[in-house]
Amino acid sequence: MRLRANDTVLVLKGRDRGKRARVQYTLPKQDKILVEGVNLVSRHTKPTGTTRQAGIIQKEMPVQSSNVMLICTHCTNPTRVAWKNLADGTKSRICSKCKEVIE
Ligand SMILES: [Zn+2]
Repeated sequence: MRLRANDTVLVLKGRDRGKRARVQYTLPKQDKILVEGVNLVSRHTKPTGTTRQAGIIQKEMPVQSSNVMLICTHCTNPTRVAWKNLADGTKSRICSKCKEVIE
């Protein structure tokens, strides 16, 4: 998975294309991510239990990770992710444009 929670991504496909938003969480097995305010759907919910809000609520649905692009924290450009092996054996993500390590 080239994306992580709290990354900022640019949406490339769908209704929210062009939006920049934060990744809330990733679903590596499905290769999907949940992005804040992106791919909103209306859910008509009944009050069940104690905390569920009734009525029509807006909810994000996960989007395919290939439909977004990571925004580099250094050059603020949408970029592809390259990988680099660090001296201690861990893999680290680097921006393919400015070659800086993305945390
Ligand atoms: Zn960069």
